Amino acid sequence: MSALLDLARADLRDLRPYTPGAYEPGLTRLNANESPWRLPGDPTERGLNIYPPPRPERVCVALAAHYGEEPSRVLVTRGSSEAIDVLIRGFCAAGRDRIAILPPTFDMYRVYATIQGAGLLRVPLLEERDFAVDLPALRACASSPPKLVFVCSPNNPTGASVPMEEMADICEMFAGKSLVVIDEAYHEFSDSGDFSALAARYSHVVLLRTLSKFVSLAGTRCGALIAAPEIVAYLGNVLPPYTFPTPSIELVLRALTADSVRTARERVETIKRERLRLAEVLADLPGVVKVYPSDANFVLVKVRDGSRFANAAHAGGILVRRFESEPALENCVRITVGRPRDNDRLLQAVSGAEWHDGG
Ligand code: PMP
Repeated sequence: MSALLDLARADLRDLRPYTPGAYEPGLTRLNANESPWRLPGDPTERGLNIYPPPRPERVCVALAAHYGEEPSRVLVTRGSSEAIDVLIRGFCAAGRDRIAILPPTFDMYRVYATIQGAGLLRVPLLEERDFAVDLPALRACASSPPKLVFVCSPNNPTGASVPMEEMADICEMFAGKSLVVIDEAYHEFSDSGDFSALAARYSHVVLLRTLSKFVSLAGTRCGALIAAPEIVAYLGNVLPPYTFPTPSIELVLRALTADSVRTARERVETIKRERLRLAEVLADLPGVVKVYPSDANFVLVKVRDGSRFANAAHAGGILVRRFESEPALENCVRITVGRPRDNDRLLQAVSGAEWHDGG
């Protein structure tokens, strides 16, 4: 067993996974208790009457090519959400192990850890430095290391990226102690480089990617965990078989073509231009205290009165996100960058004077 898997849950390291029934396309399947008939109108190639493959191997190969990785380093998951869940379940024993998070950040790390009974070590980001990572505080954690350290870059909901040298520093400080999980859900909108070189250099570094943001496929629930092959193989045993549905497999394979990726890249350019425009116009509104710099497809705005701002947007037909349970984000509003006409509408809705004075 690899030393890397010393971090895995001791009770699961030798888990004998479920053995799925064999699948041989030329042979009649009387081995999986499925219906032999397709439903009229079944639009899929494989047929919805039979199970999808236990693991979506073709999606794995396509995603590996898309991300420039070897397929043995890629675990396909139902959104990167499932990757977060399976990492916590696979590495944290309930009541004993902990994860570190850097709040304010994506709240599902906390939720999955709590469901698993894993402890939370919070190392808050530094608001006064536009939510930069508190490196000395994080370094202090390495003396009593958590199993997993979740670092989201660009971070949701602050929009800040962790600079490459800082991320390298974080990877160094937890080498041999914890897995560093770099959540790159918004990487394609960022001008800083991706962290695949760090994942290639350090076997304790795991990357999370998703098709939910960049390629307009949130509805297919397709994510990828990229890591050392032994981590991928171990987590592949923890993840149940047949989780990735046939329609999603077929749609993702169709969507990951050069043409649609080119379209997605063009749209990213539009999002970046619109992000700048939104930030500039919002910053000039009298009720806006601050627009945080963003490397993602949203902007975080601190206003004098968050609920009035959100209500003004709502009255204009626009939903924005508030974070009532996160004290560091009091009066902050996260606005996803939409199409130019959506952004016009938002700006029009919040440009009225009524909410600016907080009165
Ligand atoms: N990570 C981050 C930072 C996110 O913001 C999100 C979704 N909002 C996810 C992971 C999960 O995305 P999905 O499950 O759609 O891949």
